[in-house]
Amino acid sequence: MANDLAHAAQELGIKYFLISYVDLFGGLRAKLAPAAAIGSMQRAGAGFAGFATWLDMSPADADLFAVPDPESLIQLPWKPEVGWLASDLVMNDELVAQAPRNVLKSTMLGAESIGYQMKTGVECEFFLTNADGTKISDTADNAIKPCYDQSALMRRYDVIKEICDCMLALGWGPYQNDHEDANGQFEMNWNFDDALVTADRHVFFKYMARAIAEKHGLRATFMPKPFIDLTGSGCHMHTSLWSEEGANLFADEDGELGVSDLCYNFIGGLIHSADALCAFTNPTVNSYKRINAPRTVSGATWAPNTVTYTGNNRTHMIRIPDAGRLELRLPDGAANPYLAPAAVLAAGLDGIQNQREPGKRLDINMYTDGHKVRGAKKLPLNLLDALRALEKSTVLRNSLGAPVVDGFLKLKHEEWNAYARHLTQWERDNTLDI
Ligand code: ADP
Ligand code: MG
Ligand code: MG
Repeated sequence: MANDLAHAAQELGIKYFLISYVDLFGGLRAKLAPAAAIGSMQRAGAGFAGFATWLDMSPADADLFAVPDPESLIQLPWKPEVGWLASDLVMNDELVAQAPRNVLKSTMLGAESIGYQMKTGVECEFFLTNADGTKISDTADNAIKPCYDQSALMRRYDVIKEICDCMLALGWGPYQNDHEDANGQFEMNWNFDDALVTADRHVFFKYMARAIAEKHGLRATFMPKPFIDLTGSGCHMHTSLWSEEGANLFADEDGELGVSDLCYNFIGGLIHSADALCAFTNPTVNSYKRINAPRTVSGATWAPNTVTYTGNNRTHMIRIPDAGRLELRLPDGAANPYLAPAAVLAAGLDGIQNQREPGKRLDINMYTDGHKVRGAKKLPLNLLDALRALEKSTVLRNSLGAPVVDGFLKLKHEEWNAYARHLTQWERDNTLDI
């Protein structure tokens, strides 16, 4: 049987399986199971204590089981004796309602039941730093406009090539790698696919980039804004909806910019729920230092400040770069690979079902001329504002379910409170002599 993991282990020479899941904060958790044990693990799952990770569980809860999805199997190209598996979380024989992968799957099933399959492509920007994460790793990478810098890219050829070779071997269809707009920042692109496939790959990509950077004595970080005056790391999400027959429903030759009314309603939904969406696309305290940021040394942050959309222009929250898709520029490197697309789909479907109008397209440079636009809504200024918007969002609660929204809010409020209790140097500098 193609999906029999014990058999796959024999065929592929896999000695160990990583049975993994992603928690509400995006943390990747795993057990390493020898191939000899995979038969029973595939049936019953690998056991975990849920409270020990960010899942809003209690230490008194029953065991949590990660039941691997054989379709997700990825043999580590740099260590082929290990097979990685994404899992669905089960407790007391029921799917865990707040588990991120379960949430994406159930939101996608809901969409499929009304004829829509979501496809996404993500652009995971990251920095290569020294091992302790305090500085970028390449001291010669100091241009004011370092984007596409060939020499800086080639000084990291060994790392980038190794990651790209892995993606080629895995058949993801990688097609370009570049130095991005911040010193020490890179981006590697592979082809879009079904949103669940992309989400699993997104999780794996982050692990792979970190693991390979580590082999080279470096560190790959997806932190949204690791250096305050440099451009932050986004995770733009290109999105389209497809019919069961395989037609791109966002494409329309006669539509404005080559996209359909359905896509404009989807955009209307994203605009309607943007504040609440930020809780999932920009889920950390640090995320808000990337969006709404002042100009970086390169001249632009490339991150949105306002809830607006446009054509092929990178200064707005949503860009229509090409016929048949939209690019949501909001998500950052900390976005949960499952919850972010689930929330995007939920908000977009609400737009379709309620035929929400996206409003006027703005073709201006939002960074320089944004102040001239009356009524353009600003994005939340901090995590607390986004959490409060999520609290009020019936759209996201009804679609994603109360367990994930409430669990996420509870844990993220605790995180915000921990941050608020932290005394910063800025406060001392500005308050000591008051
Ligand atoms: P840019 O830097 O211009 O935003 P990239 O080439 O870095 O674009 O990334 C574009 C992403 O969009 C890729 O992952 C690509 O596969 C994906 N993509 C292209 N067409 C679609 C589509 N119809 N639906 C979803 N994603 C798409
Ligand atoms: Mg790109
Ligand atoms: Mg982009």
